[in-house]
Amino acid sequence: MRRAGLLSALVAVCTAATAADYSGPLFDAHLHYNDEACTHDTPAPGCPHPIADVLERMQKSGVRAIVANSRPNDGTTALATAREQTRAAGVTVVPFVRLYRNRADYNSWFQDPTIVEMVSAELARGTPAGPYRGLGEFHLYDSANANGPVAKQLMALAEAKDLAILAHVDDVAIDLLMANTPSKGQKMRLIWAHTGIGGTPATRVDALLARYPKLMGELSYRPGLTCVDGQLCPEWRALLLKYPDRFMIGSDTWVNQRWQYYGELMQGYRTWLGGLPADVAQRIAWDNGAKLFGLATPTP
Ligand SMILES: [Zn+2]
Repeated sequence: MRRAGLLSALVAVCTAATAADYSGPLFDAHLHYNDEACTHDTPAPGCPHPIADVLERMQKSGVRAIVANSRPNDGTTALATAREQTRAAGVTVVPFVRLYRNRADYNSWFQDPTIVEMVSAELARGTPAGPYRGLGEFHLYDSANANGPVAKQLMALAEAKDLAILAHVDDVAIDLLMANTPSKGQKMRLIWAHTGIGGTPATRVDALLARYPKLMGELSYRPGLTCVDGQLCPEWRALLLKYPDRFMIGSDTWVNQRWQYYGELMQGYRTWLGGLPADVAQRIAWDNGAKLFGLATPTP
């Protein structure tokens, strides 16, 4: 290679590697504020992440809206009640009803009719930040349970009440859950937590996005998403560019360790978002979530 050619090639590589990180607002579409984080207002021994702490982490990371849900629902209520603090931090709370009162419910909610009663009571109660906007996160480790009576009831209820769903399930369960809505999935705003945490092939994700116009993919823990230098792997970059309106980012603060690294998690997103065209980055980072729930774009 000629010297000039080599130089320009090197410049091109360096430019690609140092593409500026995305610096706009983030919508955290998968946030839990569970009881072990300690969902109180005042710091205390044995209370690692009181409200002031989690809001400070969001604010420092430029997170301007969250899908809030928690086990039990008290954490969501606490965030939705802290109106002055969330306003001061510039964070809009989009509350979801979690299906779990405790850890045991993860594995039995789909066969427990009292979960439907609990969800209905929460929906009727609402929150100080407004009505609940969705149900979940829920898990189905065996996709067949998507056809159980409780899942069927909740999917029908969600579509009837125009609630979104946040579901940690495999691709088979996506089809089953969608089939259990009156519109057969054509109207259901289903946020697919992790977009196939077991490694659902990108081609299959593509097919599901094509089949269900309101299916959204949330990208925490997604295997195979990032490759060199924290940038997107080619297959996923192509998929995000093909469906720029269908993906969102999330923290999934399911254990306290995720709160400890909240800043790093969000920085990781900013890194690969920065490698996308600016308009696509902005959609995945903020617009798609904001559009889903009718939020205005925040002022910097
Ligand atoms: Zn989660």
